[in-house]
Amino acid sequence: MNDEQLMRYSRQLLLPQVDIEGQEKLQAAKVMIIGLGGLGSPVALYLAAAGVGELILCDFDKVDVSNLQRQVIHGSDSIDCFKVDSAINRLTDLNPECQFRGIKESINEQILSDELPSVDVVIDCTDNLSTRLLINKSCVIHQTPLVSGAAIRMEGQLSIFINSGKGPCYQCLFSDTNTEQETCSETGVLASTVGIIGTLQAQETLKLLIGIGKSQDGSMLLMDGMASEWRNMTVTKRSDCPVCG
Ligand SMILES: [Zn+2]
Repeated sequence: MNDEQLMRYSRQLLLPQVDIEGQEKLQAAKVMIIGLGGLGSPVALYLAAAGVGELILCDFDKVDVSNLQRQVIHGSDSIDCFKVDSAINRLTDLNPECQFRGIKESINEQILSDELPSVDVVIDCTDNLSTRLLINKSCVIHQTPLVSGAAIRMEGQLSIFINSGKGPCYQCLFSDTNTEQETCSETGVLASTVGIIGTLQAQETLKLLIGIGKSQDGSMLLMDGMASEWRNMTVTKRSDCPVCG
């Protein structure tokens, strides 16, 4: 690690749980962030700031003025630009040490099977269930850890699936008929709610990459922002799960 890196990451290096060894693990890591909206914004910002070596950023969409209330990686100057380009501009300014690669396509099975074999963690920051289930399936096939987040109104959830072959997967949460879902564009979301969940996704990813703390396979954290209450639950593996069962 050079002098500039020792300075840049000094507050993180002070943590005995991180130290130089942990920082080098972050530098060697490759993370895929799918979705650069309200969740993906803090995820990408904190992972780049913390010094994750390579981020693959996927989003097909362009920045709209209605995004700026919560998608804090983008600014007014980026309206009508691809979110991937807008994000890479901001992230390169934040930490030129990191490598960024953008994919301006709707995520699909081909992209996932090309990328996942070399990715350490996938972070699902998308906003619809069919995409989430597609990402989950690929993560199970490639045994890639998945950190999944969702937020609506003032409620949010964070779940972690290690996908080592033993534990549950994201699909285990749903029976085949239970696929109705609300979206932010119909229901609304408070700005800070996506920030909290996205920031938690970043933190859990950093822990997984460094190999510290508790990141229980199949753990799910539920936030009720109105009541300021948190609930912890564990997803159970379904023997009839069409993906991991
Ligand atoms: Zn499953």
